[in-house]
Amino acid sequence: MDIDLARTWVQAIAAAVDQHKDHLTQLDSAIGDADHGINMQRGFSAATAALAGLEPDTVGAVLVKTGTTLISTVGGASGPLYGGAFRAIGKPLDAPTVTPGQFAAALADGLASVRKLGAAAPGDKTMIDAYAPALAAFQQQVDAGADLAAAALAAADAAENGMRATTPMQARKGRASYLGARSIGHQDPGATSTALIFRALAETAV
Ligand code: ADP
Ligand code: MG
Ligand code: MG
Repeated sequence: MDIDLARTWVQAIAAAVDQHKDHLTQLDSAIGDADHGINMQRGFSAATAALAGLEPDTVGAVLVKTGTTLISTVGGASGPLYGGAFRAIGKPLDAPTVTPGQFAAALADGLASVRKLGAAAPGDKTMIDAYAPALAAFQQQVDAGADLAAAALAAADAAENGMRATTPMQARKGRASYLGARSIGHQDPGATSTALIFRALAETAV
């Protein structure tokens, strides 16, 4: 992963979010307040704009800027959660190029940030249910000697499986938890956007 790839990843997320905005909002209208698409679009278009005016000298600078922008532009739960995650991912990546192993460790820091801030666990029907399996798949590939592209592809597939697995879950965190058992049978919006983020990485890292 280098600076250009990090920037292209964020741009690819913004494009994916634009494309899937209505779907994300539709999912959030079933078990939330129908703003996840607009929240994500606002945040990632602001991040793309912020990066356009930045001359970063590390991979981390791109990702920390992305996180800071998400925190300052997104009002919903997803803003601080994703913003904190991108800041945590960027923080250790203090070089113009980083190895897949360093990136895997940074992704783990990102998940730890989400878990610390949101206090959700796997199975609570949140973005964690896509992120945790994606990270595990990424790490497994890296441990087996895979490059970034192969690891990102495995992570994207695992994130999408995790996303689908949220449908039968009952939400225990966030707005969807207010619905209790009525949250069952709907795919989690945040897990869906997390899958978009990992798919964007896989499509960028080819
Ligand atoms: P809001 O719920 O404030 O309107 P969004 O609609 O943008 O925010 O995001 C909702 C998503 O945020 C949920 O689908 C879920 O994946 C995620 N989420 C909510 N609360 C938590 C939490 N405590 N931990 C992890 N993820 C959470
Ligand atoms: Mg919402
Ligand atoms: Mg909201």
